[in-house]
Amino acid sequence: MAFGFGKSGGGGGGDYDSSEEFEIESILFQGAVNGNEVDLKANARLAHAGLVPAKELVSDALARRADMIRVDPKGRVAMVTLYVDGVPYPGGRMPAQQALAVTQMLKLLAGLSIKDRQHAHAGGIITDYKETPYHLLINTTPLKSGGERLVVRPRNLDEQLETPDDLGFSEDLRVRIRELTANRHGVVLVCGPPNSGVTTLSFATIRSIDAYLYSIFSLADFGGRSITHITQADVKEDETFDMQLARCIRSEADVIIVDPLNTPDRVEMVFQNAARVCIVAEYKAPDAATCITQLRETLGAESVADRLSLVLSQKLIRLLCDECKQAYKPNPKLLQKVGLPPETKVLYRTPQPIDGEPPDECYKCGSIGYYGRTGVIQAIELNDPIKHLVKKGADARMIKNQARKEGMQSFQTDGLRLVAEGKTSLEELQRAFKA
Ligand SMILES: [Zn+2]
Repeated sequence: MAFGFGKSGGGGGGDYDSSEEFEIESILFQGAVNGNEVDLKANARLAHAGLVPAKELVSDALARRADMIRVDPKGRVAMVTLYVDGVPYPGGRMPAQQALAVTQMLKLLAGLSIKDRQHAHAGGIITDYKETPYHLLINTTPLKSGGERLVVRPRNLDEQLETPDDLGFSEDLRVRIRELTANRHGVVLVCGPPNSGVTTLSFATIRSIDAYLYSIFSLADFGGRSITHITQADVKEDETFDMQLARCIRSEADVIIVDPLNTPDRVEMVFQNAARVCIVAEYKAPDAATCITQLRETLGAESVADRLSLVLSQKLIRLLCDECKQAYKPNPKLLQKVGLPPETKVLYRTPQPIDGEPPDECYKCGSIGYYGRTGVIQAIELNDPIKHLVKKGADARMIKNQARKEGMQSFQTDGLRLVAEGKTSLEELQRAFKA
């Protein structure tokens, strides 16, 4: 069922200005992700007040490539914030009454209870924007001051899962992943803080494994997305995680991908089984070195040193817009300070005024200066010197320093590589690492 406009729509209802109709026709709400029936007729008053502004809000945000929309009611107005590539920009304001109608409308379309405003709600709307399928993930949180905060996260279902190349995997790193996952033992972990693109990094890691040579099984939930050459093992309800792993191992799996390790039990089971199969998983830790020391606390130094083979972690960095980025000649002192080679002739930044003249507007990035993101990657492989440090009880900083000494990819080296290649700016690196 599609909630369009006018005669072709599925019951939007009401008389709308035809110019308005034309402008926002490019977005269609097609039903709730949770499958609940959405009854617009029974909620005709709400639909009349909320449907058009909800469509305007979402289509404006998608046109500006927003990855998140926030609507915060404050007294009589509500502030809209759009996050583009993870960075907040003001998205205007609307009367609190209208924000309420939009929030209720989106809850209704997501199949959520519009009567209950005292609890947090989460759901999704199946959406089509300019013939591209999206899920709009809807979250509402009740506020102490009354009203609800609305957060909308559009997820493009057509977006390709990134390949290692897009993600800044060096050839070296890809080769190491291939070698480390070929031995039928060991744990490869991908870690990062929430919203740091950990899942994308996992996909890129999995794609580095040679799927033609090795049999890769997945016990993980990829949210409906599939990866070629990977066998999705069916999960039987009465089976424990341990039994699932054993079944994959009996089926001659070389590599098993599992869901994020979010309980101590799961961590332990994965490390126990890693003597017979290579296991790839996500783990919540701020960076690779901290991941190692955290695991040592739960599992003991021997187990971590013997079973863990590689930890990857990433931070997301915005890419300079290639339509408007501005070249400049860096001064030698700056190059030395940040650790770039002194022969570097040119670096890039967002457009700055020249002779007091503001830069031209950029149609591509909306004059933000950045367009899209990539990951900078830190990799720590547990080779002999690192194993030795782990057993000795070294802290995260010592492990990180040793990894850098061994020439493993670090946030710093990978970030500076992007700067030297003109893909991002020094200012962006500073911003990303300050957080
Ligand atoms: Zn631009």
